[in-house]
Amino acid sequence: MAHTPVDESAWQDDDARDLLQETLRKAWEGPAERMPAQCPRCAHEAVHAYFHARPGGRLGGCWVWCSSCRAYTHGSSRAPAWWRNLEDVEESSLTAAPVALDAMSARIDAHWNALRRGG
Ligand SMILES: [Zn+2]
Repeated sequence: MAHTPVDESAWQDDDARDLLQETLRKAWEGPAERMPAQCPRCAHEAVHAYFHARPGGRLGGCWVWCSSCRAYTHGSSRAPAWWRNLEDVEESSLTAAPVALDAMSARIDAHWNALRRGG
């Protein structure tokens, strides 16, 4: 299968990651905020978050990113108990920088908000 290298160079993994990490912490503690959330770096309402749990478990990765200024943070994480993966997200498309995830951020936001309402 042809595989096009993903260009992650536009994405910034800088000091803003500490601020974005706060969004993840909130997601663990209680009702997560509605997405998109306000960006602590550029103030646009363009912050999205996604967990990806491996099949049959809760271990996986987490991403928080801003579509506007392209700050992001990514790491290994257990997904919160309320989380369900979005079926449309292909595991093979996931990279450290949220290139594929940002392309479907509207669906990810809707998925996140629906999980919060039902949780
Ligand atoms: Zn931003």
